[in-house]
Amino acid sequence: MSANVAGMSPSPSRGAGGEEAGLTFEAGSTEAGSAARLLRDYDVLWLRAANPGPVTLSGTNTWVVGREPAWVVDPGPRLDPHLEALFEAIEARGGLGGVALTHDHQDHCEAVPALLARYPAPVAAGRGEVEVLLKEGARVGPFEAVATPGHAAGHFALIAEGACFTGDAVLGEGSVFISPYRGAMAGYLRALTRLSLRRDFSVLCPGHGPPVWDPHAKLEEYVDHRLDRENKLIAALGRGCRTVQELLDAVWSDVPQALRGLATVTLAAHLDKLADEHVLPAGVERPRFEGTEW
Ligand SMILES: [Zn+2]
Repeated sequence: MSANVAGMSPSPSRGAGGEEAGLTFEAGSTEAGSAARLLRDYDVLWLRAANPGPVTLSGTNTWVVGREPAWVVDPGPRLDPHLEALFEAIEARGGLGGVALTHDHQDHCEAVPALLARYPAPVAAGRGEVEVLLKEGARVGPFEAVATPGHAAGHFALIAEGACFTGDAVLGEGSVFISPYRGAMAGYLRALTRLSLRRDFSVLCPGHGPPVWDPHAKLEEYVDHRLDRENKLIAALGRGCRTVQELLDAVWSDVPQALRGLATVTLAAHLDKLADEHVLPAGVERPRFEGTEW
């Protein structure tokens, strides 16, 4: 079931050459070029799951880092071809040292039980019943963990070998939704700023979308984007907008209908931040998400 193996000439023994690259991406595409560069210069294998959608973009990215043993960042959804590609990579890289989760949304961690059933190994994550509970600055396997709250509580970026695995804190394209739990938006902005001040990575490997080869420009773009939304929101409030509908129309008019629900989630997080800063006018309708755990 593994893709594109038939017909390939025998490859040299597990060098970080081209034999792993291009299995998931169309030969000659920008993505295949990025995959080859990651493999050659960082020994990182990029696997993309076939779960495309409005939020997952072209699919969830799984990253296989290092070898003897390899570590896996975000095993992804439980899809057989994806798991088989992952198993194959782990075999080729001398086994599994552990799994690191940027966060515990299903599209990033659903495959964990199936992966561990085949390769028992510790799991590191920011929350949940795991062997290693990540904390700011914690070291696990080849990674240093950097808290990047906002999209999910307990979200971490992982830095290793000059690459920063950003999960859904920063994507390869588009923007992310920020969850409305206490302090999420302010924590998110601080995390982006802290990451942008670091100089120990030269590529972002996001949870969705392609690798980003200009990481600091992307981080700045993300901070600017959030502040731009906040400024537009403050302006809309100043004009007298008070309902969720009015605020979405004023600030998120560019967002397609399919993502309007998630824009509402991010609106709630922005309103929480303004309320915490005591600058939210009275009478503003606040979105409610009863029973949702972020
Ligand atoms: Zn995701």
